[in-house]
Amino acid sequence: MTPPPAAEEDLVERARKAFAGPVAFLKSAPSLQFLPPADLPEVAFAGRSNVGKSSLLNALTNRNGLARTSNTPGRTQELNFFEVGEPAQFRLVDMPGYGFAKAPKDVVRKWRYLVNDFLRGRPVLKRALVLIDARHGIKDVDREILKMLDDAAVSYRLVLTKADKIKASDLAQVSEATAAEARKRPAAHPEVLVTSSDKGMGIAELRAAVLEVVL
Ligand code: GDP
Repeated sequence: MTPPPAAEEDLVERARKAFAGPVAFLKSAPSLQFLPPADLPEVAFAGRSNVGKSSLLNALTNRNGLARTSNTPGRTQELNFFEVGEPAQFRLVDMPGYGFAKAPKDVVRKWRYLVNDFLRGRPVLKRALVLIDARHGIKDVDREILKMLDDAAVSYRLVLTKADKIKASDLAQVSEATAAEARKRPAAHPEVLVTSSDKGMGIAELRAAVLEVVL
């Protein structure tokens, strides 16, 4: 349900303030034993490598270099935790990227176990935001994590990235196709967010989409 415009404006403003304050890297967890205590609500970010996840996390938090990309296949098989607010109000979880064409099999297997265990065993995880490159739409590599989220009953929302890279007419088409697929998936939010970290497009709405689930 879409909230009335006044409530939505209020949420966007509160979200702006929440992300204008301190944001700090907390820790990396290469396996579940290194997770921080489950004492704050969390929102996780997932997406295939190179989808623009680091850029989006940096835009979201108004920081340069908060989230860093590693373009080395087989590296960054970790969950990275960031705390927002002082004292911390909630956490952002940067999930390891997937879909490297050349990733060795054991790396893919490790990713699958880590992500699955996290999704199934994290009661404070309020929502996942799954990033999809607006130029490509949802691909089979993305469907694997969508299925993991559906099966774990973790609510998620699809976020198109790099929207500045395609024509408005193509963007409208990809948005509609993505939303149509979202509506068919059990744990997906029916509305898709459209963003561009480069142009600052959709960032205020993305902040609101994070805040509304951790309040
Ligand atoms: P990650 O691997 O998912 O963390 O992706 P990055 O954030 O490192 O981005 C991958 C590449 O896409 C980089 O070259 C970025 O500069 C570029 N990129 C990321 N977001 C955008 C965007 O909104 N617009 C454009 N045009 N390029 C972007």
